[in-house]
Amino acid sequence: MRLGVLAIQGNFEAHARAFTEAGAEVFEVRTRVDLEAAEALVLPGGESTTMLKLLNEEGLWEALREACRSRPVFATCAGAILLAKDVHHPEQASLGLVDIGVERNAYGRQVHSTVAQIVTDEGQSLEAVFIRAPIIRRVGAGVRVLARYEGDPVLVEQDHYLVATFHPELTQDRALHRLFLEKAARVPA
Ligand code: GLN
Repeated sequence: MRLGVLAIQGNFEAHARAFTEAGAEVFEVRTRVDLEAAEALVLPGGESTTMLKLLNEEGLWEALREACRSRPVFATCAGAILLAKDVHHPEQASLGLVDIGVERNAYGRQVHSTVAQIVTDEGQSLEAVFIRAPIIRRVGAGVRVLARYEGDPVLVEQDHYLVATFHPELTQDRALHRLFLEKAARVPA
């Protein structure tokens, strides 16, 4: 499976490395042609406002929405903000594909990152790095919460989407990257 990592802004290099380590065939996505070639997509963390602006300037916004609709997508942090149905603090346009409401920069003026140990509903322990992370404030009926931190959902799944508010690419643990690859392999083409 050819996995495209959106490489417009943000932490795409670390994701690409992490997925390569997890055994995927990875390439960076910067154009419409790249988007079409991607059989699964990763929307990395970074700064969602900048990504939004650049995606619009490059004429990629609608193409990204179409690509995400039909392919497995792993979105982390700013990527999660791009996918969410509603975005607050401040409000911002989004692809609106995952039925969650997010509040940006919701852990206060978090200058440094927070590293927390979280446990998934399957009992798997994960190290989660939060960097100016959003909080998922609303979860729609079709969304499954896979892990929480301090009571709030931080890892959720809806259909072919896997969404984390933290940065799995910044730890040595590739469990979530592998989980996504397994999920992607199950999604019918
Ligand atoms: N604070 C960023 C935003 O609102 C997200 C931070 C991140 O991706 N680490 O877009």
